[in-house]
Amino acid sequence: MRYFFKEGAVLTAGEMIELEPEDLGHAHRVLRLRRGDAVVVADGKGSAYRGVVETLGPERGLIRLTGLPLPAAESPRRIVLLQGLARGEKMDQVVRQAVELGVQQISPVVTERSIPRFSKSREEGRLKRWRSLVRAAAKQCRRAVLPQVTPVLDFAGALELLRGRTAVLPWEGEHKRGLDRLLERLPEEQEAVFVFIGPEGGFSEAEITALIGAGVSPVHLGPRILRTETAAAVTVALIQAAWGDLGVSQR
Ligand code: SAH
Repeated sequence: MRYFFKEGAVLTAGEMIELEPEDLGHAHRVLRLRRGDAVVVADGKGSAYRGVVETLGPERGLIRLTGLPLPAAESPRRIVLLQGLARGEKMDQVVRQAVELGVQQISPVVTERSIPRFSKSREEGRLKRWRSLVRAAAKQCRRAVLPQVTPVLDFAGALELLRGRTAVLPWEGEHKRGLDRLLERLPEEQEAVFVFIGPEGGFSEAEITALIGAGVSPVHLGPRILRTETAAAVTVALIQAAWGDLGVSQR
């Protein structure tokens, strides 16, 4: 069934929802949807409803909600991914996989060893790209929440975000403390879990010292060095398995 996001929409039975311009061409020309076709509309905040196409043309598309809410594809665990800024295609992969694995927020962070450095105007372009990747990935995996991509943080901003939080800091320089040690303590239900992954070149010693000073303890992800995009996906998946909804049997 075709899936659309309409942010800010109030989803109630009988309501008419107008498709976003960015979805219109796709729905009309590519998917060739017609009056009466079944679709799903999600508000990006956690609700998704079934609906049918009422009218669809090159100018306008209207969906009538039929009022059957879908079971949410959202994890009970809120995960925020801080990703050390890596090269283009790696970031793209991180963003897509983070959405699939159920994160709620992605915050790119410029660290000492981040290779891409860009001006504010380039940053706007990157953010636009990541947000459109998020939207496509969220549609594909039927998320009801549209995960947020925040503006790029500097390291000091990341440090502030992590202070006093439940945070997972994978660092290949840590050889003793594994993620298992951390996962033993189940956080409160409402507590968000923060994950901070270094860029291709990893964190500097000074950054690790500052993070430890902010109360974040590094953990290892096994004896193999993972690529940054692999490390991000693996860490989020392990957290979802321990504290979220990945591979968890339903009662
Ligand atoms: N440049 C480093 C590797 C960086 S890997 C080197 O070659 O030594 C990129 C990021 O992935 C790291 O900053 C860390 O957050 C994570 N990572 C990769 N492998 C890891 C491992 N075995 N244990 C913990 N973190 C790891």
